Amino acid sequence: MEIVPPKINIMANTIVVFTGAGISAESGIPTFRDSDGLWCNYDINEVATPEAWERDYKKVLEFYNQRRKNIMETEPNAAHYALVKLEEKYRVFVITQNIDDLHERAGSTNVIHLHGEIFKARSTVDPNLKYDIKGYELNPGELCKYGKQLRPDVVWFGEEVPMMSEAYRVLNLSDCLIVIGTSLQVYPAAYIIYNASPNIPKFIIDPQASQVNNIKNLKIICKKAGEGTPELVDYILKNGF
Ligand code: NAD
Repeated sequence: MEIVPPKINIMANTIVVFTGAGISAESGIPTFRDSDGLWCNYDINEVATPEAWERDYKKVLEFYNQRRKNIMETEPNAAHYALVKLEEKYRVFVITQNIDDLHERAGSTNVIHLHGEIFKARSTVDPNLKYDIKGYELNPGELCKYGKQLRPDVVWFGEEVPMMSEAYRVLNLSDCLIVIGTSLQVYPAAYIIYNASPNIPKFIIDPQASQVNNIKNLKIICKKAGEGTPELVDYILKNGF
């Protein structure tokens, strides 16, 4: 009788990728803080805070309608696609600060949106009641089932970040951390890099990246995401990290 050995499920190493607005810049979505960034044209307090919503919710809806329209006209770039390739060999979690859907459109399977998703609306009385937005507009008068105005399902400045605990859960599983296109200025999201295990390799891809203090095992790649990410992914697929 032939003895067939049981199939051993060797769990692939886990890579966590933490992305910010910079990964989508080459797709044509402006970042927040670069010289041509969004905040040069808008006052954050007038469009991305709970107080702004209270003061003039129509203006806030219109701001996000324009962002949604812009995002619908863009495509994922080489950096988004390269991260999908990593899944051939690794278990990959993408933790993104971005509200766009370019990681999903490229094909990434595990995406955690720390700051919400622009193509979703949510109830103003029940944060768990969410709706997909068809097209680019969410307008005054569009109501949840309780008859209250819907708001964009994004996390505004000054609001809690409910997905943070899920982000930490996957961070604790990670054997490698890749950070792409974030100024690391928005908290608590930026704590991700400081809370990664000191023992795992870490990479930052950002043309403006500067040394981050007290981070062990860190390599900084001062390149645009569209160039630096495919290079790093090819290297990791061939050689490991
Ligand atoms: P940020 O604007 O603070 O920083 C952008 C970073 O990207 C900078 O460090 C810059 O040097 C870098 N960058 C610019 N072009 C790049 C490129 N081609 N390749 C790689 N890096 C590049 O953005 P942030 O750190 O993500 O934080 C700001 C907040 O803005 C986040 O909370 C996010 O939700 C929000 N945001 C999202 C989008 C989006 O969904 N695409 C766009 C703008 C802002």
